[in-house]
Amino acid sequence: MTETRPPNATLTGRTILVGVLGWPVSHSLSPLMQNAAIRALGLDAAYVALPAAPERVREAVEGLRALGFRGCNVTIPHKVAVVPHMDRLTPEARIVGAVNTIRINGDGSIEGHNTDCLGAVRALEANGGTVEGRTVVILGAGGAGRGAAVGCALAGAKRIIILNRTAGKAEALAGELASKEGIPPSVAWEAGPLDGERDWSGVDVVMQMTSAGMHGRNDLILDRQFQGMPDGSHALEAVYAPVKTGFLVSAQSKGLRTTDGLSMLVEQGVAAFEFWFGKKPDGALMREVLAASLREA
Ligand code: NAP
Repeated sequence: MTETRPPNATLTGRTILVGVLGWPVSHSLSPLMQNAAIRALGLDAAYVALPAAPERVREAVEGLRALGFRGCNVTIPHKVAVVPHMDRLTPEARIVGAVNTIRINGDGSIEGHNTDCLGAVRALEANGGTVEGRTVVILGAGGAGRGAAVGCALAGAKRIIILNRTAGKAEALAGELASKEGIPPSVAWEAGPLDGERDWSGVDVVMQMTSAGMHGRNDLILDRQFQGMPDGSHALEAVYAPVKTGFLVSAQSKGLRTTDGLSMLVEQGVAAFEFWFGKKPDGALMREVLAASLREA
């Protein structure tokens, strides 16, 4: 079946449908980003918002299968709730315990994937960094911290230190992942509070995965932050509004290589696009579209 849209057509009888399932979803930037990538490749496809109330998640997933959707992204609050409705999970989704991308295969089977956990590592790699064989500090033990920790472990990190404001959550996460099937047993896990005394020497990568710094509030500045990190070490931010957070400014002033939250957002979207269409979208264009819409907001 052709996936290319005829010139000048908008939607056709064969348009492949994907979208974002959430509640609410009207604020999502994904339709802008994904439709720009679809148009740039000339695909006969469209990405739409799919609002579904929490009590209707099962019906929504079944509805997508019944209507022949190719798949969808899944966002707050459904990422965990959709898991029981999948026929299969990718290793990333199984380990994280959450699905942010669904693909409905040709045989009607529903496959749950998690590209959130790939976003941080792929953004770092796109900027010349790596976690393979490295020591990584992850700040935050919420959804983003969890995804980044799994992504780093699967990408070959040697040592992963999770720090969180509520230290017990960091300890629980590190303990859970240390014994999780699918996580390389070679990873050394540590956990602690955000405000503890910390020696930053030997840390190659810091990933800021808390929501501190969102909308310019409460930037995360830790005691002796980044001091003693080796040359060429890297700081990555999850927050993308604002794009330039205090964390990134501080990292830059210490000579670290930095990657912003927009890059991470784009990379999870690129991975989802590849999962649905088997084609690489234009990541630079996706970033441009997101940046323009954030400037307008
Ligand atoms: P979440 O599950 O609600 O977790 C929030 C995390 O931030 C927790 O670890 C929390 O610590 C910590 N936190 C909140 N306020 C803090 C503060 N003032 N000081 C220190 N720590 C604080 O949220 P999430 O889903 O992990 O998202 C975290 C951020 O990442 C959000 O800004 C989100 O927009 C962003 N994000 C970006 C991408 C991307 O692709 N760029 C993807 C996912 C998420 P406690 O446990 O102590 O409360």
